[in-house]
Order: sequence, then structure tokens, then C-alpha cells
Amino acid sequence: MTTEVILPALPRVAVCGISLEASTFSPALTTAAMLAPLRGREVLDAWDFWRAGGSLADRAEWVGILQARSIAGGAIPAEDYAQLKGEILAGLVATIEERPLDGLVLDIHGAASVVGMDDMEGDLAVAVRAVVGPDCLISSGMDLHGNVSRTLAETVDLLTTYRTAPHVDWHETKERAARNLVDRLALPAGRRRPAKAWVPVPILLPGEMTSTRQEPATSLYARVPGIEALDGILDAGIWIGYPWADEPRNHAVVMAVGDDADLALAEATGLARELWERREEFGFVAPTGSLEEVLAAAVASPVAPYFVSDSGDNPTAGGAGDVTWTLAELLASQELLASGKRAIYASIPDHAGALAAAEAGVGADVRLTLGARVDARPAPPVEVSGRVVAVVPGEDNLEVVVRTPAVDVVVTRRRRPYHLESDFTRLGLDPRRADVVVVKIGYLEPELFDMAADWMLALTPGGVDQHLARLGHERIRRPMFPLDDVSGVDPVAGAVLFPGDTASSA
Ligand SMILES: [Zn+2]
Repeated sequence: MTTEVILPALPRVAVCGISLEASTFSPALTTAAMLAPLRGREVLDAWDFWRAGGSLADRAEWVGILQARSIAGGAIPAEDYAQLKGEILAGLVATIEERPLDGLVLDIHGAASVVGMDDMEGDLAVAVRAVVGPDCLISSGMDLHGNVSRTLAETVDLLTTYRTAPHVDWHETKERAARNLVDRLALPAGRRRPAKAWVPVPILLPGEMTSTRQEPATSLYARVPGIEALDGILDAGIWIGYPWADEPRNHAVVMAVGDDADLALAEATGLARELWERREEFGFVAPTGSLEEVLAAAVASPVAPYFVSDSGDNPTAGGAGDVTWTLAELLASQELLASGKRAIYASIPDHAGALAAAEAGVGADVRLTLGARVDARPAPPVEVSGRVVAVVPGEDNLEVVVRTPAVDVVVTRRRRPYHLESDFTRLGLDPRRADVVVVKIGYLEPELFDMAADWMLALTPGGVDQHLARLGHERIRRPMFPLDDVSGVDPVAGAVLFPGDTASSA
């Protein structure tokens, strides 16, 4: 019997990863179940560009392995990580037994942590590389709040990241990571792997000081597409990094990748120097103050709605979400009560409290003890007495609004973000007509930003405290701006060039 050997027309590309932003300063943990892993076809269905009919669907044979993702939280327990990693590796082994892989999309955020381990993404990348072999091209589209360790930079062939914060370009970044990969796979073997310039920069700042809505981030990030457009450069990025973990990799990184190795190094170090030279310009995206100062300003404000960011426990940055500090102060505010103004508080997660309020039902008067089940360090559970005015069950959550004399308190079964106007209106709340809206958030997401007549960021305590010096990092590299004296520091002294298939410049 003769068998005609037909070479596959399309490159074969696996998709897998673990995507999380984890505060190691929060007592919360993120379990494998909370990471809600998608498997096989589900992994591909999560993004339109490689689904049937998508822009990249016909560029490769896409193979979904396992993709785990959660909103930000605490670190992953070691055994949960081992389970997810083991399943990813076993899935890759089984896939390769059918036919080798040409490429792999490693879908990571860059700021996950595992209890007792540094550099989860580097560990996962190295483990994946050991299975797929040296010739498989690996690509990652990351969050600019993620970290790029030297290990990760060395192991992943194509790295790119968001260029906006808030991340309005999240979709195009994930697509770019996949497109760069299939574009390189279209080249002959031996010419696919670009050189990578990796420049660690000793800067560690919260996202609320580095939003691309304001300088210097606006113009620094605006430089990236121009570098990408240069002949011999494929991609470039600034990872501003994640400040709420205490690992040696937590700092900013600038990278450029391309076939022209010398140019990639020159552009990455040049941009890193600009970032360094402008470091003192970074400031908070909104006026900041202690909670007392911010509440006083909110109550006295002649314009409404006045937004207050309860930033230290922001769940989308990694806060536990159930810190009660701000809610307790708000409920106790005699100034707010005397002003006759009304506030919305979003939100306090409390499983039992939400269920009890829902069971009491709309119209019932309740007295609940809420929050501080996970993070009780700043303040104990808070008492909320009021009338249940809304009960909204969801697919995986339950939201209740309890109306107190001056505050509508949103109580949830599980923590969740409040970033959209509809997050409020579907609970019967109208944030546009409220006087004060307090949200567990850092910088305001676009819809809230547009709605806010005024805004202050309260420097409240929690796992993502914006006052970095209060956290007490012990394991990051030193000296580090702005925590240390950095006079005399050469910001690009750690630059490394990883050669690609074309070792010398074009
Ligand atoms: Zn981010």
C-alpha cells in the first residue's frame, strides 16, 4: 500500500495560557475554579479572530488547549497552579502526538503569582517550551501592567502588549499577537525568529499614575507605533509593570523585536531612556487625598455626580474587594447625612449577606453585617441597616441594593467590577442623578469618566494600596524609583539582546 504524503498547507498553532493579575499584598487566593478554565473549542470561541469567519481563521489550524482567566485577585495556590499547568502540558503532548505544532499563542496577563513561586509566566513558558520544542514559535499578547522577566523574554519569541490604559486596545493587541505569529510562520523555517531587545527599567508605579490618558504616558506610548513601523522592526512595547507583587521581576520593561537586531536594541534602549528621563512627570490621574479629605470634597461639591475611587481595594487590580474601610466611613459620615445628598456605594461582596437580603426581599428592612471575610486587615465587618430596594440575580452572582438614610449600598454575592453605566442602571440605580458615587476602582473606566462631573481618588487601604511605600516591598530589585534614591543609576544597564534567526543587523 502506498500512502501519498501531503504536507499540511496551514501551520498548526496551539492556544493556551493562564491570565491573572494577582496582588501578593492581599490575603485573597485565586483558585483553579475561579480561573474558570476553558478547554478545546471553548478556548478558540473566546476570540473572534480565529473563530470560523474571523480575520485569522484561515491563517492556521488553531488548536485550543486550555485557557484560564479571572478578574484580578490574590495569588494562585501552588497545587491549583500545578493542576492547570499539568493539564496544559498534557494537552500539548496529546496534540503533538497527532502532529507537531508550528506555533503557540501563550495567552497571559503577566502579573499572575503563585504562592511560593516567583514568575509564574516565566515558569509556564519554560514548561511549555520544553514540550513544544525549540522550533515552535511562541507569541504572547500581554497586559502592560504585566511583568516581563528575563526568562519570559528569552523563552517567548514574539511579545507584545497593550498600548493604552484603560485598555481600549485589548482586542487588537490579542489579535496582533496572533497575527504576528502567523505572519512569521509564513516565512521559511530558519528565518522566522526575530531578535529581541529586552530593557528592564528600575521604575515601579501604580497604573493610576501611568494612564495613557495623561502625560508622560500619552507621548511615551505614542512612540511605540512609530518604532513598530521601522524597517526591520516587528513590534515594540512598554510594560509599565505591576506594583502590587513583591518579586524581583516587578518593574518596567521596554522591548523591541525584529530582524534588525541592532536597530531593535537601539530603539528599545532609546525608549527606555525616555521613560527614565520623564519618570518624575508621572502623577496620579486625578486629585488624590485621604478618604476623609475626599469625602469632604465630594459632599461639598457644587457639581454632581462626584465620583470617588476607593482605590486600595480595587478588585480589577487585585484587591480582595471586601475591605469595609470606605463603606464604614461613608455610612458614618454626619456631613453626608446633614447635606441631604445621596451616595451610591459599589460595592461590598458578602456571600451570606447578599443571600439574606435577597431572601428578605424587595421592601424588607434588613440589618446586615457585611464584608471583611477575606481582607479584614484595614477594618472589621460593617453593619448596614436599610431597606432592600433591588434584588438582581445573575448567572454567577447575586446583587442587592440596600437603601440607608444617605447611601444606596450595592451588596454582591461575589466581588465584581462596576465599570459601566449599565452596571448601575440594571440595579435600578441612576448614577447620573446621584450626588456622590463611590466605586472600588482606580482610574475611572471610560463610561464613568465621561459621566463624572468631578472626581477624586481616595488613597484607601487594601491589597492594591496606591501608597506603594506603605506596602513594604522586600524582594524587588533596588534601587527602584520612586521608592529609593536613584541618583547615578544607569536605567538601561540591564539591557539584553536575544539574537533571532538573523543574528546580525540587516
Ligand atoms: Zn492592565
